[in-house]
Amino acid sequence: MNTANHASAPSSARSRGSVLGRHVHTGRPVRLAWEEGRLTAVAPAGETELDAEAAATFLAPALFDPQINGFAGVDYQRDETEPAAVAASLRALARYGCTRLLVTFISDDWDRMLARLQRWRAWRREFPELRTAIAGWHLEGPFLSTEPGYCGAHDPRSMPDPTPEHMAALREAAGEDLVLLTLAPERRGAVESIRAAVRLGIRVSLGHTNAGTEALAAARAAGATGFTHLGNACPQQLDRHDNLLWRVLDQPGWQVGLIADGVHVSPPLFRLIHRLRPGPTLWHTTDAMAAAAAPPGRYTLGWLELEVGPDRIVRQPGRSNFAGSALTPVEGVLRAAAMLGRPWRAVWAASSIHPAGWLGIDAGLRPGNRADFCAVRVDATGRPRKLTTWRAGEQVGELALDELR
Ligand SMILES: [Zn+2]
Repeated sequence: MNTANHASAPSSARSRGSVLGRHVHTGRPVRLAWEEGRLTAVAPAGETELDAEAAATFLAPALFDPQINGFAGVDYQRDETEPAAVAASLRALARYGCTRLLVTFISDDWDRMLARLQRWRAWRREFPELRTAIAGWHLEGPFLSTEPGYCGAHDPRSMPDPTPEHMAALREAAGEDLVLLTLAPERRGAVESIRAAVRLGIRVSLGHTNAGTEALAAARAAGATGFTHLGNACPQQLDRHDNLLWRVLDQPGWQVGLIADGVHVSPPLFRLIHRLRPGPTLWHTTDAMAAAAAPPGRYTLGWLELEVGPDRIVRQPGRSNFAGSALTPVEGVLRAAAMLGRPWRAVWAASSIHPAGWLGIDAGLRPGNRADFCAVRVDATGRPRKLTTWRAGEQVGELALDELR
């Protein structure tokens, strides 16, 4: 890979640069150039311009994750979490290929959730690094199903019915920011609330729900567009004739999210859902919590005490359900590819441009877009070996992929 950073001073290292490699989607030689954090050119290059390293390097849009609850030992749900720790976790996230995320807050007392959101917004205004990485906010709850299995690790005691007033308060707390709300459409008042949310520019996804077909269709008609981590937040045992999975997969139009760790959704189900939903209506997430990119041990997810063993699975001690994952973004790509038996390049979009596009962000490699991209160096067999990530034109991390399982 040829890299040239034409910086006039170290402090402006992000001001200009260019890089040569192969486009992740086409495999054809391409030169990316950027200035002041934005791509200025994504131009075809000649095969002869590539040296050996550039010829073995694929350039791809950086990964984008709509559901991150914490990362690298930092729990985003805790009130004592400091912005400096958040910034460190975002740097770690970038090292694993993800430069933009929706910071996700799980069910809690509603006023506390809004206060948390406002505190984080103030940090985001104050700290440029948070501003660059945090694309918006995902409130997963509190308007979820309280039924056992469907509520997952969320506390059913802090789950009111949604109202249009809740939506107005959320919009006020979030200002103009991008907000995604995951709710259960069978809750009383859900349809009016979804309508109110969508009018206020809040994106609505369904999840932690046991909604019937009609409630799903009514939510769709009211403007809900997504489904959060399908295949999870439901009981281990489901009715073989009629269950939430069949109902959602039977309806067109949902942007379906899947946790791509090979544990939350079994590989056969993962493959089946991909066969039913090929293309941009499917996206992958890590649903990462603090244990991602951190050693096995005990971690929190808000008030929950969780355990992560050497298998990297996040468990509530004494219970069978999972609570978030310890998956990192680039591992998600590699595990999705392994489950699907497809090249990693073919699944990259599901963790980058698909979720971003659903949320209205063009994260593709195009002039004018932010210079957020990954360079993936492969070996002679095509196996990814090294990941280098740029965020807004600044190189933010390098990772040996052999470190990953
Ligand atoms: Zn969840």
